Amino acid sequence: MKGLVYKSTGSWYLVKADDGKLYEARLKGIFKIDGITSTNPIAVGDQVEMELSAEGEADAMITEIFPRHNYIARSSPHHIKHHHIVAANLDQAVLFASLKNPKTSLGFIDRFLATAEAFHIPAIIIFNKADIYHEKEKQQYKRIEKMYPSLGYPVFLVSVSMQTGMKEVEKIFDHKTTLISGNSGVGKSSFINLIAPSMNLKTMEVSQWSGKGMHTTTFAEMHDIPGLQAARIIDTPGLREFGMADMDKQEISHYFPEMRDRLNDCRFNNCLHIDEPGCAIKAAVENEEIFMERYISYLKIMDTIKESEY
Ligand code: GDP
Ligand code: ZN
Repeated sequence: MKGLVYKSTGSWYLVKADDGKLYEARLKGIFKIDGITSTNPIAVGDQVEMELSAEGEADAMITEIFPRHNYIARSSPHHIKHHHIVAANLDQAVLFASLKNPKTSLGFIDRFLATAEAFHIPAIIIFNKADIYHEKEKQQYKRIEKMYPSLGYPVFLVSVSMQTGMKEVEKIFDHKTTLISGNSGVGKSSFINLIAPSMNLKTMEVSQWSGKGMHTTTFAEMHDIPGLQAARIIDTPGLREFGMADMDKQEISHYFPEMRDRLNDCRFNNCLHIDEPGCAIKAAVENEEIFMERYISYLKIMDTIKESEY
């Protein structure tokens, strides 16, 4: 039977089979995926083949994993040796953010976007807590609305508490598998509880698997969104930042679309766009063709990368 992994703990998996039922599954033997030795060979979003075990109906053995369309990992896509795969087969990644209580920094947003670029996953930003924005935050949002959509990242403004802006946002999940991330306190859990209240894995017929850590929230988990067709969200609790840990300095500008488009125009082909002469990126920042905020985020990311890595 084929199935889709809804939760992966590294030792056992929650798999929704084609019959619509949930099974607790384990891996049969050890196998490598795509020639990569991963610390977690199977991730949320993986499509698998499984055999039901003889003794219990809710138990199954995963015998095969189907090729991934894509995945997102904690480390760079170019450092495939130490993968920890967060989720597989994603259509898009949503960053939940807020401009107040707590403020999500542009640096944090741009790191998320660059990570999504690195793994070729379309990204969307949802700003929450619109109900508490004052003039300052409203002005900031105007700037954000000007910046991100022009770079290919749609933005939305909602208030989960007041349930404003939610109708528009719900549409983006239709027929998609979406990874949701965000710094803590921005209202991500409130949002997920609102749009996917019934797909509460804790309330499903899993009580018989007592003592198996069903209630831990440290693992990514997939939820169906009721009322929409094939809409799934993957919640990533505890996952604040990922993907950029071991990227090379040379690769970062490739993950800023507005820089990527201009790389060929720099005088030196190993230009890092910091203080090199004839740098097309810096010229574009000066001409306001590249947003200054984005360039600052780029420099901050570059600062966090060790010299030895390029
Ligand atoms: P998470 O850490 O991102 O999962 O955030 P939570 O969902 O736990 O929410 C953090 C706090 O923000 C809670 O006290 C929520 O009630 C509050 N919150 C969530 N959405 C909104 C909103 O739209 N407006 C306001 N003012 N508070 C909100
Ligand atoms: Zn340059």
